[in-house]
Amino acid sequence: MRKLGAILGLWVAMSPACADDIVSVLERSQRLRLEQRVAAPDSERSRRVRVTFDRLMTRSRLSPHAVELRVMQGGVQAEAMLGRLLVVGDAVGDLPEGERLVLLAHELSHLSLEHWQALCAVYRKHVPGDVRPDTTDPVAGALSHDANALSHRHEYEADAHGFALARPLGATLDDALSLLMRQPMLGDSPTHPATRRRIAQFRMLQARAEAIEAQGGALRTGGVNVAPPR
Ligand SMILES: [Zn+2]
Repeated sequence: MRKLGAILGLWVAMSPACADDIVSVLERSQRLRLEQRVAAPDSERSRRVRVTFDRLMTRSRLSPHAVELRVMQGGVQAEAMLGRLLVVGDAVGDLPEGERLVLLAHELSHLSLEHWQALCAVYRKHVPGDVRPDTTDPVAGALSHDANALSHRHEYEADAHGFALARPLGATLDDALSLLMRQPMLGDSPTHPATRRRIAQFRMLQARAEAIEAQGGALRTGGVNVAPPR
């Protein structure tokens, strides 16, 4: 358990006192992080986040009942949590509308593409029973490898699906690149590809969208087939 917790950042959620299945541990970890956040007061910047969210929801395949927006005190960051929550820092309300569209569309895409459920399935495949040192230590390396690979794929998918969602509402390639360059990552992290890889994909998506538009076609919002740039 120590080894898996260290690798997956689940320390606090892994209680040695009770045996749990791995998805319960993952959910508890997310709930604990959520409980540390403070709801943002009603303000103009919070209102701008809600307006942008509503614009995207009119085009999303998600039912309004399937996702809950929570605007919290915090910086320029947003996160899809527990497969149904979109948790957004209220500083996102200070972004230009185009960047806010790209950011929220990316996170909404994690929800509509059911990435949380897919990640849970990978954890459950490696740890099908109780979470104990003898069930987790032997698989920790393989599990973190598979989970990281899946997370990277999900990032490319959410960029592609989200850009197709946000672009018809006025978001541009410049908005996407400006957003990425606010917190650039030189190399890959366990969960996210390096910024230059994501920029390469955005440029490819823009070129593809322009080619489709030149032919008089409409950019579809789903089923974008993405080959991660290397
Ligand atoms: Zn993401």
